[in-house]
Amino acid sequence: MSAQIIDGKAFAAKVRGQIAEHVAKLKADHSITPGLAVVLVGEDPASEVYVRNKGKQTLEVGMNSFEHKLPADVSKEDLYALIAKLNADPAVHGILCQFPVPDHLNEQEIVAQIDPAKDVDGLHVVSAGLLASGQRSLVSCTPLGCLMLLRDHLGDLSGMNAVVVGRSNLVGKPMAQLLLGDSCTVTIAHSRTKDLADVVGRADIVVAAVGRPEMVPGDWIKKGATVIDVGINRIERDGKKKLVGDADFASCSQVAGAITPVPGGVGPMTIACLLANTVTACCRANGLEEPEGLTA
Ligand code: NDP
Repeated sequence: MSAQIIDGKAFAAKVRGQIAEHVAKLKADHSITPGLAVVLVGEDPASEVYVRNKGKQTLEVGMNSFEHKLPADVSKEDLYALIAKLNADPAVHGILCQFPVPDHLNEQEIVAQIDPAKDVDGLHVVSAGLLASGQRSLVSCTPLGCLMLLRDHLGDLSGMNAVVVGRSNLVGKPMAQLLLGDSCTVTIAHSRTKDLADVVGRADIVVAAVGRPEMVPGDWIKKGATVIDVGINRIERDGKKKLVGDADFASCSQVAGAITPVPGGVGPMTIACLLANTVTACCRANGLEEPEGLTA
């Protein structure tokens, strides 16, 4: 293996440390405690684990965590009334609804209820529009985490060729906007892209966000390129359950200059960026200076 491993777990711990310091300062200097409200509908076991982890990490950095568990058959009116209450609550600086939600609810419509100033998941159309027009916004947590890792590893990204494989609203599109904002030359590839191997082969930075286990092989990667693997795929190999990314780590790490592992790469950055967005939203709501390095 020649590639340097980009340790997202260690970097996320550093980011959380920075957030904790800023939170302590907000409390000491302004008597303000940033607060994150998480809404969970139903009893999906994976979602319950995510929500528990988010709550735990929120408290660990000194912020307030407000968990709202609603029954799976909650009406849309009751859910929206809760979101409206959270929008109006000055102790709540960030709001997210854990997805997926039961079929009678619509995710896009739910996100539209959230005040964009508290949209710490960066999913509101206003957040997407602000990002696309190069204005200050709250940015989707996973792409923000990828950008932080890239900046930390490569420094100035200006002029680099970046290929984002995947065009989802959650990852691919905001990732491409962020890379463009850092003056990369950006290509967005997707399931209809012709000769994907050739497209990926020209990239200095490859972000793989396709949701297909180990789809990007090492022989697509330009020697020395940086590979950011967003994928989280649960597979079974040799009778054992395993987590793998969207890039084939074994072959990519032979060619790449640096690569994020799965697990331990991009994954830990997602919650760290959720906390970062909550602090950012809190500072903006109170007209205070934002912490450095935690926004796009
Ligand atoms: P989506 O399913 O929403 O999007 C996948 C994208 O990949 C689509 O744009 C699709 O193209 C494209 N794609 C699918 N197959 C191919 C192919 N054969 N060739 C080229 N492109 C293809 O997934 P997400 O963006 O939500 O997530 C992507 C991955 O990231 C998943 O593995 C997910 O688990 C992971 N993830 C990880 C997070 C983390 O915290 N680390 C957070 C969020 C996601 P098209 O649009 O044409 O269909």
